[in-house]
Amino acid sequence: MKYARIITACECQAKLFADLDEKRFVLRGWAKDMRRKQECTAPAHTIHAEAAKFQVAWLCPFCNRNTLRAFDATGLSWREAPVPPEAETAEPAPAD
Ligand SMILES: [Zn+2]
Repeated sequence: MKYARIITACECQAKLFADLDEKRFVLRGWAKDMRRKQECTAPAHTIHAEAAKFQVAWLCPFCNRNTLRAFDATGLSWREAPVPPEAETAEPAPAD
């Protein structure tokens, strides 16, 4: 599968990240506070995912703002993901 990573800045200067799948749905959203060097999960979702110009909304864990940013589908850079990003940290199934 392919995924695209988008990065934007919140009003509080934290950086907001999301990995999108090929339908532009959010696989994972997170935020980084560069000054405090903290990383937290940030709930995120796509609005108008089917449109060429779509929006992604994050709930910033540092300032609790709902941050909405517009993206252009043609500007996404796709990466090959051999495994879904959320599966990388999954525990191996117990051998039976
Ligand atoms: Zn914020």
